[in-house]
Amino acid sequence: MEKLIVTEEFYIDPRLQEEIEQQLLELPIVQYAWLPAKELTFSENVRKICREECPRYGTSWACPPAVGTVTECQERCNAYPGAFVFTTIAEVADTANLEETLATRGEHEAVTKEIRKILQTKFEQTLALSADSCEICGTCAYPNAPCRHPDHMVPCIEGYGVVVADFARKAGIEFMNGAGIVTWFGMVLVK
Ligand code: SF4
Repeated sequence: MEKLIVTEEFYIDPRLQEEIEQQLLELPIVQYAWLPAKELTFSENVRKICREECPRYGTSWACPPAVGTVTECQERCNAYPGAFVFTTIAEVADTANLEETLATRGEHEAVTKEIRKILQTKFEQTLALSADSCEICGTCAYPNAPCRHPDHMVPCIEGYGVVVADFARKAGIEFMNGAGIVTWFGMVLVK
C-alpha cells in the first residue's frame, strides 16, 4: 500500500489517521489519500455518459436518476468535510473484455464495505461511493418499492457525477496501472 496524504483543508488528527491506516493495512488497497471533499469535482457530462451508455441507468436505487441530480449529489458530498479515496486493482487477460473486467468488481466492493466499516467506528457519519451499481439483491426494488438495504448499498461514484480522473490527479493516485490491470476507485466521505 502506498501512503499518499492530502490534508491541507481537511484536518484529521494524526493519531486517528495513524490508527485508521494501521487497520487498513490488512486490506488490498493499492493507493489512497485523504482529500478535502470540496476538492471533488462534479460534471453533468459524467451523468450524460451514465444516461446514454450505462445499462444500469434507471434500474437501481444506487444509480441515477434515483440518486438525485448532480447538484444534489454534490451538495450531499459537500456536507462532509473530507473523503478517504482509494484504489484496488485486478489482473485480467483483456481489459477491453467488459464481462471479464466486471467479474473482478466483487472484491473491490467487499474492500469498500470493509473500509466503510472501519471508518464508521471513527467518524459520526460516512457516505461510501464505489464502482458501478449496487448488486446486493438479485433484482433491485427500484422503482416500485424502497431500497431493501439502504444502510448497506453503495452508490456508484460516476452515478454521482464525480470526475474520478480529476480527484485521482489531485490525490496523486494512478488512474491506469498498466496493461491487463483493472483499476477500481472508491471513496468514503467522513464527518
Ligand atoms: S440493496 Fe437491493 S434494492 Fe437497494 S439499491 Fe441495492 S439492489 Fe437495489
